[in-house]
Amino acid sequence: MLAQRLNNLHPYVPGEQPTDREYIKLNANENPYPPHISVAEAVKTAAENHIEKLGLYPDPDVTDLRQAIADMLNSTGGVFANANINGNSCTPSEKNKIPFEITKDMIFCGNGSDEVLSFVFYTFFDSDRPLVLPEFTYSFYPVYCEYYNIPMNPIPLKQDWTFNVQKMLEEANKTNSSLIFANPNAPTGIALTRAQIADILRQAPKDRIVVVDEAYADFGTESCIPLLSEFNNLVIVRTFSKSLSLAGMRLGFIISSPELIKAVFTVKDSFNHFPVDFLAKTAAIASCKSAWYNVENAKKIVEERDSFTKFLKEKGWFVIDSSTNFVFTKKDGVSGTDIYKAVKKAGILIRHFNTPGIEDFVRITIGTHEQMNALKNILEAI
Ligand SMILES: *Cc1c(COP(=O)(O)O)cnc(C)c1O
Repeated sequence: MLAQRLNNLHPYVPGEQPTDREYIKLNANENPYPPHISVAEAVKTAAENHIEKLGLYPDPDVTDLRQAIADMLNSTGGVFANANINGNSCTPSEKNKIPFEITKDMIFCGNGSDEVLSFVFYTFFDSDRPLVLPEFTYSFYPVYCEYYNIPMNPIPLKQDWTFNVQKMLEEANKTNSSLIFANPNAPTGIALTRAQIADILRQAPKDRIVVVDEAYADFGTESCIPLLSEFNNLVIVRTFSKSLSLAGMRLGFIISSPELIKAVFTVKDSFNHFPVDFLAKTAAIASCKSAWYNVENAKKIVEERDSFTKFLKEKGWFVIDSSTNFVFTKKDGVSGTDIYKAVKKAGILIRHFNTPGIEDFVRITIGTHEQMNALKNILEAI
């Protein structure tokens, strides 16, 4: 009774969300800080004062939200951890000043960046040539390749866990293919600089799209947003789930040229006119307007990440220096599964991937200072 295409699907497995017991959740890279109180107030007010809106279809183009996202990017430079806070407003750091204004026609917003990525795959990647991507990157990309019947050409990472950029470009040029990768990458946490991404764009096929998934860019040092003025084949994907503390609301967005954004709208309107509901939109706008608060949280997370990395190194763990809100780490003589199990038994969830090549590692989301102290105590015993 089932369609044949189901045989080809291998669904994405997210970090577990158990309901049987209260765990400290350091397994899904969610933000340990709740959204700003103004987000709750905005949702409450919207529901109370405009209950009739719940009975009406929302704005299919979420025009005011896209404007709020553009404003947030212009004021922070797209890297929260490096932005400056002045009272309730922000300015970008020197190295993240965007040399043009991001406008709302450069933004597309959907129901989580996973959905947005699905639209990106449908809009830009053909079935007649392989998509080039790193072997270890966000594990949803291969799932969408299967879903849309797009062949893949995964390129192994180098010994030091960085991308083999030269090989990726060679392969992309051989087949005139698009590229996709996360920057900073998941699960390694390693970031390419903007200059390195500019190099990739210079050498990649000009008539093919390069997608950079910046889910974690707010915890890093540089965004490739400024490159949009130079490269019309660049598509940047972002999410509200990590740096904006709204994983439960499901919001993600694209920053690209108005022409490419228009193409994604065509795909969205052929699938679901209204991926962003009225309350999610309200929450997201309030979150963008309290960017300064999210900037504060990103700075706290980065500080905690760096001190946790130092702790692990002192205890003899192998840690990849991270530009994200998680660390990817392993310990000689202990399997990744055993670390995961021991930590779970003590009430903390971390992420372990049963994937050959990275099965020794665990991925640990950076939590609050208290949560990290609890984790440190458990890890000392391993
Ligand atoms: C978390 C994550 C996403 C998905 O974000 P949602 O908006 O929650 O769907 C996309 N890409 C990468 C690299 C991620 O880590």
